[in-house]
Amino acid sequence: MYSDTELLKIITNNDPEEDEALFARARSVREAHYGADVYFRGLIEFTNYCKNDCYYCGIRRSNRKVERYRLTETQILECCRLGESLGYKTFVLQGGEDPWWNDERVCALIKMIRAEFPEHAITLSIGEKTAESYERYFNAGANRYLLRHETANEEHYALLHPAEMSGAARKQCLRVLKKTGFQTGAGFMVGTPGQKPEHLLEDLRFIEELKPEMVGIGPFIPQSDTPFANEPAGSLEQTLRMVALTRLLLPEALIPATTALGSLSNEGRERALRAGANVVMPNLSPVNVRKLYALYDGKICTGDEAAECRFCMERRIRRFGFVPAMVRGDHIAAAQ
Ligand code: SAH
Repeated sequence: MYSDTELLKIITNNDPEEDEALFARARSVREAHYGADVYFRGLIEFTNYCKNDCYYCGIRRSNRKVERYRLTETQILECCRLGESLGYKTFVLQGGEDPWWNDERVCALIKMIRAEFPEHAITLSIGEKTAESYERYFNAGANRYLLRHETANEEHYALLHPAEMSGAARKQCLRVLKKTGFQTGAGFMVGTPGQKPEHLLEDLRFIEELKPEMVGIGPFIPQSDTPFANEPAGSLEQTLRMVALTRLLLPEALIPATTALGSLSNEGRERALRAGANVVMPNLSPVNVRKLYALYDGKICTGDEAAECRFCMERRIRRFGFVPAMVRGDHIAAAQ
């Protein structure tokens, strides 16, 4: 539908009027499929231990400055109960790649949540695992899995990660997740060091080919205790253009207005909703650990109770003419 030349022109556009026209087109495609509804997901950041060493990420293993935490099963279930009372129908369990959370423990946790909340969607975001592990999580009752590919260009991927990680392995995990039966979320950061417009084009082509049910897109934001501490953040407009293009290429995708966008700019998330996004992920984690899940500097909502985040988000959404939808919000194809 779009040629490479056309896409590159849009990716690098700096005419605000053309941006507005693009966002309006993306908005109408989103409206045709999901109306004005914005799906809420309750995010539980349950561990910041990580065995990986991604150069951009504040919870990388080499960061000795971050205080590590790991919620207990009881605490996680408490978060789910609080989430349910606030109306959430999806729980997202995200964390670093924490070896303590081995497959037995992860599966036991999923089963506990599944037993208490039979109708809720359970989303995992715990990194790269074997096909066997993914299958075990799925069989234990998890429904969705978020694993951003970060950048589709493998040389660029190698600039952002240590040698033991590879873009090829990451993409392979995504294919396995889809095959396992998960509603699968890919995604990428905009404005990471060394990123070129051609890399963003590759991200779009990868998304087009993989057809993930969800696509998470956020700006890179430097974190002061990482090798990229002094690199500039990604641009708000370019991130919004990538959200809009993703909506045009995958009309039915579930696309979050990410916390990183809200952290980069006060109305970043609202603007993403106006550029085709249709999901928000307010935080359900206990307030005392919020600051420790410090992927990047200046992360918003680190001092707010879960209920405040829930209602603050609702107010923000309504102000922009969208409708908060406290439903499971499965992907259209998966809901049938
Ligand atoms: N361990 C899980 C979760 C990673 S954290 C996994 O591997 O999938 C979730 C996302 O935060 C990452 O996929 C990455 O895209 C994003 N992230 C990490 N550091 C960031 C930074 N400095 N700026 C913006 N986004 C960042």
